[in-house]
Amino acid sequence: MEKLDLKRDYYQMIINGERVDAISKETFTTYNPATGAPLAQVAKASKEDVDRAVNAARNAFENGKWRRFPVNKRSRVMNKIASFMRARFNELVELEVLNSGKSLSAAQGQVMQAIEDFEFYAGAIVGHRGEVNNMPFGFFNYTQKEPVGVCGQIIPWNYPIMMAAWKIAPAIAAGCSIVLKPASLTPLTAIVLTEICHEAGVPEGVVNVVPGPGSTVGDAIVEHPGIDKVAFTGSTPIGKDIMEKASQTLKRVTLELGGKSPNIVFADADIDAAVYGSLFGIFYNTGQSCEARSRLYVHADIYEEFMEKFIEKTKQLRLGDPMDQGTQVGAIISRDQLEVIDGYVQSAIEDGATVVTGGQEVKVEGFENGYWYAPTIITDVNHDMKVVQEEIFGPVVVVMKFSDEKEAIKLANDTEFGLGSAIWTKDQGRATRVANQIRAGIVMVNCPFSAFPGTPFGGYKQSGFGRELCIETLDLYTETKSVLAYYGGKPLNPLGV
Ligand code: NAP
Ligand code: MG
Repeated sequence: MEKLDLKRDYYQMIINGERVDAISKETFTTYNPATGAPLAQVAKASKEDVDRAVNAARNAFENGKWRRFPVNKRSRVMNKIASFMRARFNELVELEVLNSGKSLSAAQGQVMQAIEDFEFYAGAIVGHRGEVNNMPFGFFNYTQKEPVGVCGQIIPWNYPIMMAAWKIAPAIAAGCSIVLKPASLTPLTAIVLTEICHEAGVPEGVVNVVPGPGSTVGDAIVEHPGIDKVAFTGSTPIGKDIMEKASQTLKRVTLELGGKSPNIVFADADIDAAVYGSLFGIFYNTGQSCEARSRLYVHADIYEEFMEKFIEKTKQLRLGDPMDQGTQVGAIISRDQLEVIDGYVQSAIEDGATVVTGGQEVKVEGFENGYWYAPTIITDVNHDMKVVQEEIFGPVVVVMKFSDEKEAIKLANDTEFGLGSAIWTKDQGRATRVANQIRAGIVMVNCPFSAFPGTPFGGYKQSGFGRELCIETLDLYTETKSVLAYYGGKPLNPLGV
């Protein structure tokens, strides 16, 4: 592969370790959401390109150059990927900001986490191994973890490089080969990350990237008989569709889907910590987070005090040049997404809710053609409203009062989703009680962050299944083989012949 310039006018797809055009020669334009301006052209894959990529991935898997690579060497290559990413930290951050419109500080955190994901799995894979089981006398059984095969991975636009890392790192650590489809809105950092994988020594064919529309490229991946597993992060409706289609070839499936996560502030909470954490919980990444804490429940006794601070701080949030270190809230990913968000806000108004602040598109100086939406707080809602039940995926939070622990738990669980949740209280007993009763994959206690490399990330209910970012993820990229032997000496004659 040629020298790496992260910023280009045209990004090709990566198949079998090479940059290639689409067979059709078609391309599509990717944009900067902060300005609305075109950023680059990208090769647009079709079903035929997916076939090429699956063949390359299958060959790489069968020839075993990576799969049979001693695990310590695989680990060394993964650490090298991380160090090459680190050496290009600022370039990766800039490319991510340009393609996603997110703030510099958000992109910095996410690129750093992507790097640490490779480091985490470089270590974790060394300790990921089978077991020796207790057997009747004379028998011997061991299990070994073998890579599941060729993995199709489909990712969304909200955390482009981080999602690519969450998918690529555990899969290649386990010895799998990959065909990755980035989101059409944000394909760039996944492409350059794949190039870095090759630079660091991942053999050709192990990591392939096919940018293109979900309806054709995504579908071709999900239906391809040459793919053994599909790992998908995205919306719940598409997740259901994928699960159904993948059943035809009995692919292993893991799904990280939407959320509508509750954020409960009890009367004994540290109010300032809860205000900061709740602001971060909903407005980080411009609310475009599957684990966004978008339903805020505040105890009646502290409601006025909490809300006064929460509203004041929300109004002060800085929207601006995403490349400015002081910008706190970035752009919305697209005009379409902005309209979806505004549609939810309008539906809340029609349903009789009150928009306390925000609730409209804003013009940011110097970025007038970009997609910007004011951080929005909505009150006077009831629990059946669309705005309370459906994922908005934007900077919009609904706030409700509650009066006791039981009610808080009931409201928190009154959702079809089960991804994140947060609790603010100084009472450790209460924190434990409530954490035990919330039906969600993640509970944050007095903590603004939902995950670090090593902590399981994933959902209950319609937020999907499977866990990422943790050791358990390696089980989802491997099959367990049981080898059962008899060393008892005396021949066994179970049929009595
Ligand atoms: P999306 O529409 O579901 O798209 C996700 C990915 O699936 C994209 O790469 C998309 O391609 C592709 N896709 C679209 N239609 C497909 C099809 N029929 N078959 C196969 N693939 C298809 O979601 P999004 O709009 O990008 O992202 C927002 C959603 O993702 C939210 O609901 C959010 O909660 C969820 N999300 C969840 C997590 C998590 O970890 N649980 C993390 C991030 C986001 P195109 O880009 O070409 O459409
Ligand atoms: Mg979509």
